[in-house]
Amino acid sequence: MPNRNLNLILLGPPGSGKGTQGERLQEDLELPYYATGDILRAAVKDATEVGLAAREYMDRGDLVPDDVIIGLIAERLESGEADRGFILDGFPRTVPQAEALDAKLSEIGRQLTAVILIDASDEEIVRRLSGRRVSSNGGYVYHVEFNPPKVEGICDVDDSELIVRDDDKPEVVRHRLEQYHEKTAPLVDYYSRQALLNRVDGSRDPDQVGEAVRSLISTFSLEEGP
Ligand code: ADP
Ligand code: ADP
Repeated sequence: MPNRNLNLILLGPPGSGKGTQGERLQEDLELPYYATGDILRAAVKDATEVGLAAREYMDRGDLVPDDVIIGLIAERLESGEADRGFILDGFPRTVPQAEALDAKLSEIGRQLTAVILIDASDEEIVRRLSGRRVSSNGGYVYHVEFNPPKVEGICDVDDSELIVRDDDKPEVVRHRLEQYHEKTAPLVDYYSRQALLNRVDGSRDPDQVGEAVRSLISTFSLEEGP
């Protein structure tokens, strides 16, 4: 698949499949993949300044403050490693974050190619997050029923133990969903107005969702031309 300067955002409620599809896209497109949840969890694990600041928000299922997260993404866009494009997963999550991203991109002479909204109902999300398991060493994601590992409790890729994320407990999931509807869902309008929004039905199985995402991206590549 061609991979010239594709600047993509994966948007969607928690558990809609952004990480699952992001993993596949990262392989297909060979572009840097920035999942802010993964970046923050690594910072918490390493007890960095950002991690210490973010932890209490994440445990409660609240969003971490905009300035913390905007700084993390700005750093990566400025570094040059994303000069051929990028895939953002979980950022932006608020209108101020989206505005800050627009400002940063125009500062470096870039623009978004597209926003892919992977959508799923609240009911489906609760089902998915209650069975989600993640590798303890990296960002690999499984589901006890919908995407089980080959050996129960062990990551297929790096053999690490699979764990339940603290914020996937039912009471925290409810709060994260509220936060999504209140603070992140307005981005659907925000990007519709910029004619960047593309909706994918995330309720189908992972391969079907992946196919829909891929065929969408091939149309962006064609439109861009050499
Ligand atoms: P999910 O994959 O379930 O949508 P993430 O792994 O993306 O969840 O995020 C986990 C937590 O990290 C969020 O609940 C929030 O506390 C924090 N977080 C991640 N990205 C952002 C962001 N862009 N703005 C604020 N908080 C964020
Ligand atoms: P997000 O990054 O949006 O929070 P994930 O990719 O982590 O979502 O997916 C949440 C859970 O749902 C994981 O356990 C994953 O294996 C599972 N999952 C992802 N996509 C699908 C799908 N299309 N159908 C069923 N389960 C899925």
